Amino acid sequence: MKKKEKEVIREKFWENYALDQLNSLEWEALCDGCGKCCLLKLRSKSKLHLTNIACTQINLRNCRCKNYQNRTELVKDCVSLTMKNLKINLKWLPDSCSYKLVSEQKLLPSWHYLISKDRNTVHQKGFSIKDNSVHETKIKRKNFYSYVIAEIEN
Ligand code: SF4
Ligand code: SF4
Repeated sequence: MKKKEKEVIREKFWENYALDQLNSLEWEALCDGCGKCCLLKLRSKSKLHLTNIACTQINLRNCRCKNYQNRTELVKDCVSLTMKNLKINLKWLPDSCSYKLVSEQKLLPSWHYLISKDRNTVHQKGFSIKDNSVHETKIKRKNFYSYVIAEIEN
C-alpha cells in the first residue's frame, strides 16, 4: 500500500492555491480567528437573524473554541466549515472571512495573522468579536432577539 504523504503548509498557500487545492493543515490555518462564525444565528420562517451573542463554547479572551475537537457534538448549530458546505454558508459568513475572500480570489487583509505574523492583530484592529459580543451564558434565551444585528433571507 502506498504510504500517505505527510501534509505540510506551503508558502503563501492562500495566494498560490485555490480552496479546493488546500490540504487539511492549510484549510485550518486559513482561519483568521475572528470568531464571527461563532455568533448565534436565529432562524425564523423566512429569515436568518444574525446576533452578537457568542456561543457558550467560545473563550472571549482570545475568540477560540474551548472544545474545538468536539465542537459539533457539543453545539448543534456549530458549523464545521468544509469545501463541501462552504457555498451554502457563504450567505451568512462575514465579508472578512478568509474562506470567503479566497473563494472570491481576493487578498487576505493586512490584519490577518498570516500577513501580520501576529495572532492578536485581528483583535487589535477590531475585526474579531472580542470586544463587541456578549457571551451566551450571560443572556436569558427569551431576550436573544434583542441582540439581532442583521437579517438575511433564509
Ligand atoms: S468567520 Fe471565517 S475566518 Fe472568522 S473565525 Fe469564522 S471561519 Fe475563521
Ligand atoms: S462550538 Fe462551534 S460555534 Fe461554538 S465556539 Fe466552538 S467552533 Fe464556535
